Amino acid sequence: MPARKSAVVAKPTAENLLQVLPPNPEQSVIDPIAALKLIREDLGDCTRCKLHKQGRKQIVFGVGNPRADLMFVGEGPGADEDEQGEPFVGRSGQLLNNMIKAMGIRREDVYIANVVKCRPPGNRAPERDESETCSPFLMRQIAAIKPKVVVALGAVSAKNLLAINAPMSELRGRFYDFTPAGARNSDPMWQGTKLAVTYHPAFLLRDPRQKGEAWKDLQMVMKFLGMKPPPKTE
Ligand code: SF4
Repeated sequence: MPARKSAVVAKPTAENLLQVLPPNPEQSVIDPIAALKLIREDLGDCTRCKLHKQGRKQIVFGVGNPRADLMFVGEGPGADEDEQGEPFVGRSGQLLNNMIKAMGIRREDVYIANVVKCRPPGNRAPERDESETCSPFLMRQIAAIKPKVVVALGAVSAKNLLAINAPMSELRGRFYDFTPAGARNSDPMWQGTKLAVTYHPAFLLRDPRQKGEAWKDLQMVMKFLGMKPPPKTE
């Protein structure tokens, strides 16, 4: 694994700050289950960006342990996710599940979400206005869950979370200090989380040779969290 580079502080965009600042209904709620419920209610039957009228079947909010130490963030729902209302349930989801299992934990132990909560048509990447409109809700989810580590799956997710425009080769292999906008208001004791970047499972399905590199990223996360992989079974 390459030497870890120095961490940088990710700054939320001005647009995100404007949209995430109080009043948020969950702002003074400590229980992450209740906070996530309030965020979901606030999202409602969302029509805030044009993705609401481009064929989505349902909003894909997020799934998993509201008290997770580890959170995975992809770019947006695909066809299977749109159908089932849950992130990462198709072939990419199966691979993500295997990656999580290789870390010695279960899918139910982590929290999984996306930058945008509605399926972009044709599985295209979310456009800037869509990401900027939807990502404040993701930021609020992260602030409610307060994971120790967020893993951005793919460059689209990384660029949205970090507001950095850089190739994967530069984004991977380091931790970033990350605090979602508005989080310090809800819990001044929380010093934020670490963010790491790895390949999106859909990319790994297209280029399985990169799985070893993704495993290096996950091992970096495991080391930080004090996790050990399960013993190999024959
Ligand atoms: S992608 Fe997000 S902001 Fe856009 S309509 Fe769906 S939930 Fe609302």
